[in-house]
Amino acid sequence: MVSQRHAILKEMGITQWVLREPVVTLPSETVMTETAIPDKPPAQSTTAKIALDVSLKPAPQTRDKADSHTKADTGVRVEPASNLAELRAQVAACTACELAQSRTHTVFGEGPDQADWLLVGEAPGQQEDRQGKPFVGRAGQLLSQMIRALDHSREQMFIANTLKCRPPNNRDPMPEELQACEPFLLKQIELLQPKVMLALGRFSAQALLKSEEPLGRLRGKVYHYGPDKIPLIVTYHPAYLLRKPADKAKVWTDLLLAYQQLEE
Ligand code: SF4
Repeated sequence: MVSQRHAILKEMGITQWVLREPVVTLPSETVMTETAIPDKPPAQSTTAKIALDVSLKPAPQTRDKADSHTKADTGVRVEPASNLAELRAQVAACTACELAQSRTHTVFGEGPDQADWLLVGEAPGQQEDRQGKPFVGRAGQLLSQMIRALDHSREQMFIANTLKCRPPNNRDPMPEELQACEPFLLKQIELLQPKVMLALGRFSAQALLKSEEPLGRLRGKVYHYGPDKIPLIVTYHPAYLLRKPADKAKVWTDLLLAYQQLEE
């Protein structure tokens, strides 16, 4: 299994990596913790000061569950849904923002209803829009390799996007589109109750954390998301790694940090 993981890591372009202490600015509500980072899952760990346990101030996504399924200050109104299938049907019928005009399919996400992991990307691309599935194409293949390097399979994880419809020509999501679609993601999180969340890319991280910080300053920490304090880790989007493969080692470190949250 170890040799297989090494082969996968090599395939990802990672031949070695070094854990190092991140340079961080501590906001007033931040608490420093010492965290053991495994050098490979599931055994053997190396202790390193690398994680920050951040107590987020109440944000819109921390509102009461009883309230969250119907209330959307600026976003789509999500009707009561007791399971993901019901929510998927609502997304498929949504016309709350202009992306409904240009999409081929909505991309709700896929994975088991009881998944421990929730991976949140940014928005569907061309292939995702055509197939109605998240993370297909080259970025999706790289994501699958990353997951396999953790001795997991993609089918074990729930993979979703911040936006459920493709922005034309893969342009960046507009703030009003992110706001409109946000209640769907919040409801997904509420229904899934994952044990760990991984934000893939800047738009996903900034949307979930209500932050305008660049991704490089958001990663390398453990956030506790929402009232259930779900561990949330930020990392680069696989599409970015295709353009800048030198950062794959950073992503591997982030994945190990996320993996560790399941062990605690
Ligand atoms: Fe609805 Fe979200 Fe698609 Fe906009 S992006 S139409 S809010 S599902």
